Amino acid sequence: MKNKIWLSSPHMGGSEQNYVNEAFQTNWIAPLGPNVNGFEQDISDYLGIQNSTAALTSGTAALHLALRMLNIVKDDVVMVQSFTFCGTTNPISYEGAELVFIDSELDTWNMCPIALKNALDHNKNRSVKAILPVHLYGMPAKMDDILQIAEEYNVPVIEDAAEALGSKFKNKFCGTFGTMAALSFNGNKIITTSGGGALISKHINYVEKARFLATQARDEAPHYQHSNIGYNYRMSNVVAGIGRGQMEVLNKRVMQRRANNQRYREFFKRYPGITFHSEPNKDYFSNFWLTAILIDPELTGGITKDDIRLKLDSENIESRPLWKPMHMQPIYEGSQFFGSGVCKSFFEQGLCLPSGSNLTDKDFVRIFKALRQLFYK
Ligand SMILES: *Cc1c(COP(=O)(O)O)cnc(C)c1O
Repeated sequence: MKNKIWLSSPHMGGSEQNYVNEAFQTNWIAPLGPNVNGFEQDISDYLGIQNSTAALTSGTAALHLALRMLNIVKDDVVMVQSFTFCGTTNPISYEGAELVFIDSELDTWNMCPIALKNALDHNKNRSVKAILPVHLYGMPAKMDDILQIAEEYNVPVIEDAAEALGSKFKNKFCGTFGTMAALSFNGNKIITTSGGGALISKHINYVEKARFLATQARDEAPHYQHSNIGYNYRMSNVVAGIGRGQMEVLNKRVMQRRANNQRYREFFKRYPGITFHSEPNKDYFSNFWLTAILIDPELTGGITKDDIRLKLDSENIESRPLWKPMHMQPIYEGSQFFGSGVCKSFFEQGLCLPSGSNLTDKDFVRIFKALRQLFYK
């Protein structure tokens, strides 16, 4: 069997191990220490907002703390992009809030501002506490429109930027638009700490409160005193060392993922029926974390997204259907959904192609050979 080609696998830059070794040599094997501080500083520097980062155990934890800090409780409403991974929506359910699902629009595949406005009008008499757009596969959402509507209705925005570190809209980094944002450093993201995440905010009080809640909300006292319910969500100093090394190569990783995306575009030029997830115009800069395509079987001679996935799989190459919209999931049956079903049609026709920054020329030869065999048949 040939080696597995993964959808998106970890890609170390080289210096990660030095930071991890340092943690061992100095015995900082704890959820605090110089690597945690250094990693937070590196992210804040990168995003261009000082003290904007709290390093946590996961992106899901970051979203959970963001919701907690907006005091979202049972029966409050959160307007959330339906087209996403469950890590976006689970934390809303942890707090017992109601999810109102918003469709995608055709340009970015992210939260549709028109559907959002309809949803807000429809829920005028409810306690709507947050708007949660996602920058899916690295593509920035329509942040101008979303922020304008959020301001009009006076509802804070939490950005799910788990897939979009390094992406920009109008030259401003994803994760710096909303009241708060979440990043993820899970194993398959553009950079990784094996598992990890961060809460981002330009409001330092949220960053400090996130660190407080993430370390069991211990009040200042010699004994253990608690006036808040906390969590054990702080990032470990060992894995933060991996993060420091990864930050050194982040820009390189962005360029490598973008180069992969370009390669697929060149390849598919000769085949009709394939539409790429694309930057709508020069305002958008995607890290192209994953290259995503839509396949129209009426134009491909009957070839479907499943045919492509199964063909690649037979050659030990991983690909993945697009996220199944959350309003179509059994756990959220009966929820409100606003839109015409754009994200459902994406799900029905879409596929993510292998997109790791560590893909080699040889890997691409194998991928394209498999695709050629399918399309020439
Ligand atoms: C990965 C991801 C998350 C969750 O991040 P974890 O670090 O895995 O908890 C949330 N939202 C989206 C869109 C993601 O891709």
